[in-house]
Amino acid sequence: MLRIGCHLSASKGYEAMAKTAVSIDAGTFQFFTRNPRGGKAKEIDEKDIEKYKEYSAKHDVCKILAHAPYTLNVCSADEGIRKFAIDTFADDMKRMEYTPGNCYNFHPGSHVGQGIETGIRYIVDALNEVIIPGQSTTILLETMAGKGSEVGSTFEQIRQIIDMVEHNEYLGVCLDTCHVWEAGYDIVSDLDGVVNKFDDIIGLDRLKAIHLNDSKNPIEAHKDRHERIGYGQIGMDAIVRIINHEKLRMLPFYLETPNEIEGYAEEIRVLKEAYRG
Ligand code: FE
Ligand code: FE
Ligand code: ZN
Repeated sequence: MLRIGCHLSASKGYEAMAKTAVSIDAGTFQFFTRNPRGGKAKEIDEKDIEKYKEYSAKHDVCKILAHAPYTLNVCSADEGIRKFAIDTFADDMKRMEYTPGNCYNFHPGSHVGQGIETGIRYIVDALNEVIIPGQSTTILLETMAGKGSEVGSTFEQIRQIIDMVEHNEYLGVCLDTCHVWEAGYDIVSDLDGVVNKFDDIIGLDRLKAIHLNDSKNPIEAHKDRHERIGYGQIGMDAIVRIINHEKLRMLPFYLETPNEIEGYAEEIRVLKEAYRG
C-alpha cells in the first residue's frame, strides 16, 4: 500500500488533522509545529493528543511528519537568530515526545554569506545541542534546492553534517523531489543514478521520508518553486517512477504541492491508482 499524505494546517489540533487525512484517503500527514514564521507554539492539548492516538490507531494513520518553521535558521550570521532557532528546535523536540516515535523535518539553514563550512559548523553545533540521547524522535535534514545560500543542496553536504554530529543515530534525511531536481539531480532521466548516488554518499538507511512535489522550474534552477503533481517540469511519468521505485516505494510520501484539500485528495487518488500493488 502506498503510504501517502499531504501537508495540513495544525490550527485545529492533532485529531482534526488525522480526521482530515482520513477524509482524503491519506494514511499519514505533515504539519508545522508552530506558525511557519516562528514564534510561540500553541500549548500541547493532552486531551487532543489522546483522542488523536485513539482515532489514528483505529483508522491506520501511521507515522506523521512534523516540519520545523521554515524560517528557522540555525546557521544565521546573527547570534540572536541562531539562539532563537535552537530554543525553538529544543522546544519542538519536547513537544514531539507527546507523539513518540515520529520524525521532525527541518531545513538545514542558510549560511548568509558566511560560507558552506561555517554554515555546516553551526548546524552541527545546533544538532549537538538539541539532540537528547534517548529521545524517540528522528530528526530529518531536508535536501534543499540551493536557493540563495541554502546549505544541504548536495548529498555531500548532508553527509558531512551527519558525520560531524555526535549522536547521529537520531538523524535521517527527507528527500524533496522538487528540491533535488532544482539542485541539479536528474530524477527525470536518471532516477536510478540519483538513488545510487544517495546510497553511496549518505546511505539509503538514512532516508526516512519523501516530499513529493513537482517543480515549476527546469533542473538546476535553484529557485524552490513547487508545482502540482504532473503540471511541472518533473512531470507525471517521472513521479510515477519515483513512487514505484524499488528502493523508495516503502517510504512515506508527503505532498507539498500548491493545492487546497480537494486538490490533495485528487493527487492522492491518482497516485494510489498509479502505484503498483
Ligand atoms: Fe521543507
Ligand atoms: Fe519540502
Ligand atoms: Zn520547497
